[in-house]
Amino acid sequence: MNRELLRSLPKVDELLQEETIKQQLGNSMRVIVLDSLREAIEVYRKAILNDEIQSLTKEEVMTHSIMLLNKKNLPKLRKVINATGTVVHTNLGRSLLSKDAIDRVINVAENYNNLEYDIEKGKRGSRYSHIEDLLIKITGAEAAMVVNNNAAAVMLALDTLCREKEAIVSRGQLVEIGGSFRVPDIMKFSGAKLVEVGTTNRTHLYDYQDNITENTGVLLKVHTSNFKIMGFTEEVSIEDLVKLGNENEVPVVEDIGSGVLVDYSKYGFVYEPTVQESIRKGIDVLTFSGDKMLGGPQAGIIVGKAKYVNRMKRNQLTRALRIDKMTLAALEGTLKHYLEETEAINNIPTLNMLLCPKDELKKRAQKLKRKLQNKTDKFTFTIDNDYSMVGGGSMPTEKIETYVIKIKSESFTAPQIEEKLRMNEVAIIARINNNEVIMDLRTLFEKDYGIITEAFRTM
Ligand SMILES: *Cc1c(COP(=O)(O)O)cnc(C)c1O
Repeated sequence: MNRELLRSLPKVDELLQEETIKQQLGNSMRVIVLDSLREAIEVYRKAILNDEIQSLTKEEVMTHSIMLLNKKNLPKLRKVINATGTVVHTNLGRSLLSKDAIDRVINVAENYNNLEYDIEKGKRGSRYSHIEDLLIKITGAEAAMVVNNNAAAVMLALDTLCREKEAIVSRGQLVEIGGSFRVPDIMKFSGAKLVEVGTTNRTHLYDYQDNITENTGVLLKVHTSNFKIMGFTEEVSIEDLVKLGNENEVPVVEDIGSGVLVDYSKYGFVYEPTVQESIRKGIDVLTFSGDKMLGGPQAGIIVGKAKYVNRMKRNQLTRALRIDKMTLAALEGTLKHYLEETEAINNIPTLNMLLCPKDELKKRAQKLKRKLQNKTDKFTFTIDNDYSMVGGGSMPTEKIETYVIKIKSESFTAPQIEEKLRMNEVAIIARINNNEVIMDLRTLFEKDYGIITEAFRTM
């Protein structure tokens, strides 16, 4: 150990006198600057104690502390660039909001607002009133309400209609979604008793019929969003389930998962049941997410027959599951677009990305490739066909044709490139496929091309 070097380690007070650090104090909070200086000094102290360095300058310590400071100043929750091609990426925040939805959020966040105030009557109002009419108009349901997320919506529906009673579910629909939403567990929380019927691959109408008793609270249908059973399968249709429910005066509740409000089969996708269709077929209560294919904020939307939805509004649990003003503002802004399908497709980023034509993606790939190649010759970029995913456990078998840029390098391996992109100041999340790093144009925005090209130039 070099004692002299150890003695020469600068002190915090000493560094605070340096012009470079004084400048930092102008832009950062003092406590964060102090932490960075202490940590940087500590790094060098350890290096000296371990005989890892034999010389040291004040400048080195300051440079290291500024690096630490810049990191500390970054928000923990922050922007990343999604180059994976998975549009509703649960790890990356699911749906992006439309411009209009964002403006509405800002407006209610920076101003007082009529969240629970009826302006016309001059007295207390309901926070749910702002979007109920829109949801009714768009889905065709009698009534609507919104809670924190779809998991909460299912819980509330079961707690309201099925507490201490039995919910009949097909074994083929007892799914786990996204690692944390398990149908049987949610049911336990709600106090509903699960009655499993049928088998994993086949459930018949008589399976439900034979299990209906005086104690049956609901017939529950769950959309098996993130997996598909192929081959010898049978599910009971909504029509049959609704008929059976009506005959026995038992409400039929459907968790449809993704809030699909547009018939995507018109645009070349496999048919995915829409909210409107379930309502038309007579489902009593329907729940879905706000931030999956609907393209809005995190929310759990409940639509259906007024006599059931109104009971849910009065449930004490609703108070614990309620959404805040920013979510409401974003949801109203998003739903408004759905009054006209082309508006929704043009303005809601999730829909816009999902339905972006292949030719357009090819053009974007060519443009980005040209920009990249102009900035660096350490990499070769090639354009190729690939497939994007919807994500968020929606349409798991749908492979959407796309264009990607493949990255090759003499200097770096694919995992190294992937890591460097990820560790960029604005993290770029790419995919590795067959030992090649690829960036899917479907989820990239032109406004980020500069950040991407700069990341490669400085690699
Ligand atoms: C995604 C999903 C959920 C969970 O929804 P959150 O909004 O994430 O709580 C529940 N059920 C189904 C069928 C889903 O697809």
